Amino acid sequence: MTQVEQDVAYIKSNFGKGVEQLKVYLESHKLLIFFLTPKMGGKSTYIGFLRELFPEKFTVISAGNIVRNIQGLSDSEALYKLQPIFTDRTNVVLQEIKSADVKNLVSDDVLYKLLLAEINSGDSSVSPKSPPYCPNLPYSPNYSLILDGFPRTMVQLDLAFDLIEKLKIQGFVPFVLNIVVSDGVLDKRMTNRRVCAKCDLVGNMDTLQNTGVDNLKFDFTKNEFFLTCPTCQTPLIKKTTDTELSEMAERRKVEKDVYAKMVETAQKSQIPQTTLRTDVLVKYFSGDDAMLNLSNSYQLDKQGQITSESVKFTAYSPQGEVYAYHPRWVVGNIVLEMNLKIRN
Ligand SMILES: [Zn+2]
Repeated sequence: MTQVEQDVAYIKSNFGKGVEQLKVYLESHKLLIFFLTPKMGGKSTYIGFLRELFPEKFTVISAGNIVRNIQGLSDSEALYKLQPIFTDRTNVVLQEIKSADVKNLVSDDVLYKLLLAEINSGDSSVSPKSPPYCPNLPYSPNYSLILDGFPRTMVQLDLAFDLIEKLKIQGFVPFVLNIVVSDGVLDKRMTNRRVCAKCDLVGNMDTLQNTGVDNLKFDFTKNEFFLTCPTCQTPLIKKTTDTELSEMAERRKVEKDVYAKMVETAQKSQIPQTTLRTDVLVKYFSGDDAMLNLSNSYQLDKQGQITSESVKFTAYSPQGEVYAYHPRWVVGNIVLEMNLKIRN
């Protein structure tokens, strides 16, 4: 069994009843899920598991991907795509999209129009295979939507509630899913990422994903462990620079406010919502290791050999040390929350 298969089996054996109930519900209902998580919050892993558990039920619409896809097109292809959406200001919008990056985001109004067009076209890169998702047909099959990366600003928040109203008419049931985790966990995940400057391979000091312990070396001058690339043996460097880290922290603050406000507004408007913590204070944890994220700890023995052992991933929060929950445990709880908040 692959790791994903094992994790899916774990979810089914621990949350099986919830999975079955939600499966039945999704046969006759379509959800509009606002998937609110900070960067490095584990979103793509969670969404991957949901798609494994409920095959062909979830279409993912990623705001970031829509923008990046257009950026990857030639000017004429992009104009052809944008013309029906923006008619008389197509050229201006194209320039705006082409110059967008982490610091200069696409304007809220443009992003919203792109999102609406994507939802109505069913042309998502990750949409279910067949038949195509088609919201305009009265008896269209029930494909639920997961919105990734929207809303991200206070203006987009208003647009999100506008979207809820628009899609309600098409039979979509809204659900706001707010995934919360300590900054310390996110920072640790971020700072432990490594990359090969030659071949772009991404590794991680904590999980040793893509590299393995064989590629772990010790630097006697700096007195620290480092990873080398399994392909070209070049020492890997930090993937995220300090500047990027502080920019990320800024963006995280804004997003946190937007997400909290979205949950609050949803609550007032009787829209199903939930806030799920994905870490736990060490002093309050009373479960087994299978529920937790593990990482590696290294030692150098007297012969200069490196040994590695599996330990619980821990990080710091203002309230004290925390463990991070394993994605399979988080997804099981997402399923339970959906049953609790939507089915009833
Ligand atoms: Zn390399």
